[in-house]
This record gives sequence, C-alpha cells and structure tokens, in this order.
Amino acid sequence: MVKIVVLGGSFGGLTAALELKRRLAGRAEVTVVSDDDRFVFLPSLPWVIMGWRRPADITLRVSDILSPRGIAFVNEAALAIDPEARRVATAHRQLAYDYLVVSTGPRLAFDEIPGLGPNGHTDCAFTLDHAAKTARAWKAILADPGPVVVGSSQMVSCFGPSYELAFEMDAELRRRKLRHRVPILYLTSEPYVGHMGVGGLGNSRRFFEDEFAEREIKSLVNQAIEEVAPGEIRLKDGTRIPFKFAMIAPPFTGVEAVKPLGNPRGFIAVDQAYRHTKYHNIAVIGVAVAIAPPEPTPVPVGVPKTGFMTIKMAKLAAHSLAAEITGGPAPGPETLSVLCMMDMGQTAALMKASPLLPPRQESYTKKGWWVKGMKAGFERYFLYKMRHGYSQWP
Ligand SMILES: Cc1cc2nc3c(=O)[nH]c(=O)nc-3n(C[C@H](O)[C@H](O)[C@H](O)COP(=O)(O)OP(=O)(O)OC[C@H]3O[C@@H](n4cnc5c(N)ncnc54)[C@H](O)[C@@H]3O)c2cc1C
Repeated sequence: MVKIVVLGGSFGGLTAALELKRRLAGRAEVTVVSDDDRFVFLPSLPWVIMGWRRPADITLRVSDILSPRGIAFVNEAALAIDPEARRVATAHRQLAYDYLVVSTGPRLAFDEIPGLGPNGHTDCAFTLDHAAKTARAWKAILADPGPVVVGSSQMVSCFGPSYELAFEMDAELRRRKLRHRVPILYLTSEPYVGHMGVGGLGNSRRFFEDEFAEREIKSLVNQAIEEVAPGEIRLKDGTRIPFKFAMIAPPFTGVEAVKPLGNPRGFIAVDQAYRHTKYHNIAVIGVAVAIAPPEPTPVPVGVPKTGFMTIKMAKLAAHSLAAEITGGPAPGPETLSVLCMMDMGQTAALMKASPLLPPRQESYTKKGWWVKGMKAGFERYFLYKMRHGYSQWP
C-alpha cells in the first residue's frame, strides 16, 4: 500500500484527499492531517460578519466527510516535515509517507505589524473565529456609529473580502439609514483600486473607482501600515487614520511547518504538476504555492490563490500523483485562471482573468444582480458537494 499524507483539511486538502482515494481505491492509504476539524466555506465569512449567515450554515465536520470514504483523519497540527526521511511530525506522532500533499494555506502574520489583528486593535475576516468576533464589533458600530476603515496591509494576497465588506457595509448602513454617520475608507497596499494583486481584471480599476465614488467610499492606495494604536492606524508615510471599527487583512506567509520547503516567506515553488521543484514526491497546492507577482509595486502585494484555482490545482496534483503510482498517463499542464463572484451588497460582480496574470486572453469585471444569486447558489452547491465527497464534480 502506498502511503499518502495530506496536510490541510480545507479547499485544497479535502479535494486532493478525496480525489486520491477515488483514483487509487485499494492501492493507497490516504491520511489527512489538519489542526482544524472544521471545513469552513471561507467565501461566506463576510456574510457571517454582516449577520447574513450563521457559522453553522457554512461549516462541515472534516471527520464526517472523510471517515465514510475510508480516509484517516489526524486532528493535529503538522509541526515539521523531514523530506529526506519522508516523515511528518505532529505533537503526538510521526507519520511516514511515500507521497505528501501540502495544502496548509496561509499563516496570518499579524505579528509583522504591531497592534494589528484580533489580539491587537483591528478585526479580521479570514477565519471563522475571527469573523465571529468581527461580527460583534460590526454590531457595536451599528449601535454606536463612527468611522470605518476596511482594507489590506502590505504583503496580503487575498483582496476580495475587503472589497466585499466595504460594499456590504455601505449597503447595510444605507438600509438602516445610518450611512451619513459612518465614513468608510478603503485602505490598501494595492497601487490602485481594483489591482487585486493580479494587475487588475479587465476594467476593474475604472469599475471600482466609479462604484466607490457612487457610494462615497473613499480610498487610499499604495499604503504600508507601520503600526496600529487603539483607534488609530499609523502609516509608514506618517499619516494617521482614526477609526472606530477597522477590518484590515494581515500580511500572509506560509505556515511554520512547511516554511523550510519554500522561499523566505514560506511559499513553495512548484512545477506544472504542482510538485515541489526538489522533492518530486511532494505536491503543493492552494495558498501554500509561490507565484511571482505580475509586476513590481511600490508597496509589496501578493498574488491571490483563489478557491477556484485551489480546486483546479488539487485535482491536477491528485491526477498526476495517481498516474505516477498506477503507471497511467500523466495529465498535461493546465492554465490557471481566476473566476470570482464578488458581493456588493445590493448587487454583485463577476470577475474573470484567464490566464491569471497579464497579458491575457480574456479578462473582465461585470456587475449584475444575477451574480448575487449565482454566488448564493454556488455556496449551497459547494457545501453539498463537499458534504457528500463528490470531489469529481466541477
Ligand atoms: C474571507 C475569504 C473570502 C474568500 N472568498 C473567495 C471567493 O469568493 N472566491 C474564491 O475563489 N476564493 C475565495 N477565497 C479564497 C479561498 O478561500 C482560498 O483560495 C482557499 O481557502 C485556499 O485553500 P487552501 O486549502 O490552500 O488553504 P486554506 O483554506 O487556508 O486551508 C488551510 C488548511 O490547512 C490547515 N492547516 C494550517 N496549518 C496546518 C498545520 N501546521 N498542520 C495541519 N493543518 C494545517 C488549516 O486548518 C486548514 O484546514 C476567500 C478566502 C477568504 C479567507
């Protein structure tokens, strides 16, 4: 029996584990190691903050997905990987592997900016626990309005949720007739609004400038944060921004356990089959992958690896590993692209970039109420698909 260990129980890890088990039934023991027994549909976290979803609506138990399919689950953090000895260490065990899949996502590096984050003075939308806390802070603003800052610090590589929250907060405040009491600032490391770490998507710069102007959402671009004090964000250029509520995305790095396999920020270089460039028996997918930015920017920003991209990577990596194990034909390379549905409160936008970075064959940002319906429908579809382990579905 071939031993396969998968690190991470989210979009990438679960998809890869289910696909490997499906393709290698009877030939491989698949074990998922994750520090969290919850699969959370992360794209809906802004809706949890707004009070439009409950945590239970978007959460599944990883063990409930894996055990009926004969996949072992170790609910512990991987602490270290020894790629020469082919072993993963957790606090309580050593797991030997023939093949390893890494899908451990980002480490949210609040520590790189003093005062940033839920243990400091700002809120965050990136985990379920953070979103639940941010939802309470948002309720407090509705009860006692004041200035709101939403945005992304330097070295972020996921900009969509901050844009969504700026639009959703605007819509909710207008619905409650409170908008005139809450100035909203979109603060970002991006060189222009709509850059999103990928050099824009079609007309996204003009699109966001117009949509922000219509809603009187101010923006401040090209900014790096020095530190956050209670009620005040201090930028590296000396500007001080007062706030009552601030939701700021933190810098991303790779998680500690996989950092030695990657670049100085812990993201890991891969080949076209998402294999580690030195250790060919290690596949790396999702946010853990290193992708060079499309262009230098005055303040460094990272390239987003979306859920859509992560699922594609997981399927291709699983196919490639299974082909190697069974001696079957290896899959050809695939073009990575972005397809995103961004909520805007009353409406939504569909954003596409193919390939991911410019120059591109196709890229656009289009607004339509129907995108909002598609986004809610996709949430239900994806949770159904994961609950039943139908990883082969699109
Ligand atoms: C708020 C928000 C909104 C988003 N909206 C969209 C959207 O609209 N569309 C879209 O396409 N994408 C969206 N994304 C991006 C999408 O969620 C990510 O691309 C996707 O989650 C990446 O999957 P992953 O498996 O690489 O990492 P993650 O989802 O981050 O999962 C990492 C997993 O590894 C586990 N882990 C971490 N460290 C260890 C360790 N040491 N040992 C064991 N396990 C570990 C974690 O517990 C987790 O299970 C959004 C993300 C966020 C946060």
